[in-house]
Amino acid sequence: MQYSEIMVRYGELSTKGKNRQSFIGRLNGNVAKALHEFPGLTIRPKRDRLHIELNGEDADAVMARLSQVFGIQSFSPSLAVEKDMTKVHEQVLALMNETVPEGSSYKVNTRRSDHEFELDTNAMNLDVGDFLSDARPDLVVKMKDPDFILRVEVRREAIFLSTTTIKGAGGLPVGTAGKAMLMLSGGIDSPVAGYYALKRGVEIEMVHFFSPPYTSDNALAKAKELTAKLAPYVGGIKFIQVPFTEVQEEVKAKVPEGYLMTVQRRMMLRLTEAIAQQRDGLAIFNGESVGQVASQTLESMAAINDVTTMPIIRPVATMDKNEIIAVAEDIDTYDLSIMPFEDCCTIFAPPAPKTRPKTDRARYYETKIDVDGLMARALEGIKITEIKASDQFMNQATDLIAELL
Ligand code: ATP
Ligand code: MG
Repeated sequence: MQYSEIMVRYGELSTKGKNRQSFIGRLNGNVAKALHEFPGLTIRPKRDRLHIELNGEDADAVMARLSQVFGIQSFSPSLAVEKDMTKVHEQVLALMNETVPEGSSYKVNTRRSDHEFELDTNAMNLDVGDFLSDARPDLVVKMKDPDFILRVEVRREAIFLSTTTIKGAGGLPVGTAGKAMLMLSGGIDSPVAGYYALKRGVEIEMVHFFSPPYTSDNALAKAKELTAKLAPYVGGIKFIQVPFTEVQEEVKAKVPEGYLMTVQRRMMLRLTEAIAQQRDGLAIFNGESVGQVASQTLESMAAINDVTTMPIIRPVATMDKNEIIAVAEDIDTYDLSIMPFEDCCTIFAPPAPKTRPKTDRARYYETKIDVDGLMARALEGIKITEIKASDQFMNQATDLIAELL
């Protein structure tokens, strides 16, 4: 079927004037970015719908990309027909023959924005229904829960027909909620947290701590590859790598073992906050989940959270591990996340971290290290790259794994 446009229904759209405009404006920009590989398209954002005219571009390829754009409730590939009922009948039949199998149930659902047109919605429903009862006697009309809904939209420029509605990614257009930093490790949880941040319209930048030579190039490549997995939702994501070796060596040398992890995490959080401030980030997202490991007891979160007043948002805080894994599989980060490359935290992880660290103890042990100097040097060493969906970082690593298996 040579569809003429994809008709896009907006997601959770605030009806207020200014918000609505910024929602539509941002969605339009994000859709354009997501579809930049299709130069033939014309995108027309309207008040209640967004229309993507295909002009010969491949509908399936366009829809595959579109399904990853947040702020879209659903979309339908549609056929534009001249406003002439003979032509409408012809195209209705062609569309139904191609998309609706024999014996299916259906109903016709008309919407009309052009009130000048000769048939009103009722008359159109009846006319098309009558036509189909002759042309496709195998079909059954069913008002409640039919297998297919034939949507007929009478607009000024043409009449649009569709039988297929595809669920969109939901959420809010990325960017409508401002910018935040995501603390991205190489694990399962933080990429999922990033997905949820994007879904609520938050533009994220990745902050990743790495500790060469204790962590390998592969661990860094893996974090970048995970970023590339989330990039299709936005077009591109900034990846900020922060050298963390000196901090970890100093903490290891000066802080008692039970507090190594707490103090390291406090340093990570301080650094992430400093980066957020430099880059106009409004909040910090991470992949902590209550009770999952020693560093994620409520006492531990409190002792770590102590260093900042910036909002810390933990999208997976109340999810079970298997629920997080299910999402990771959906967004295709799981297989990467479980690749066995040592993370900076696993290497410096004490055998028995305190599960109930005390904030005042953590503060006291930090008087033994040069917090400001360490931070300044780590911040000086940060490197920022823009990662796109098509970027690849793991070739070497995956080859390596293949060899090992
Ligand atoms: P994940 O699966 O995201 O690695 P986790 O269950 O392994 O999480 P932790 O290792 O305790 O949990 O880390 C908790 C959170 O701290 C991570 O979700 C992430 O947001 C942040 N974090 C941990 N290590 C790093 C790192 N090297 N760089 C940036 N953030 C990190
Ligand atoms: Mg981890």
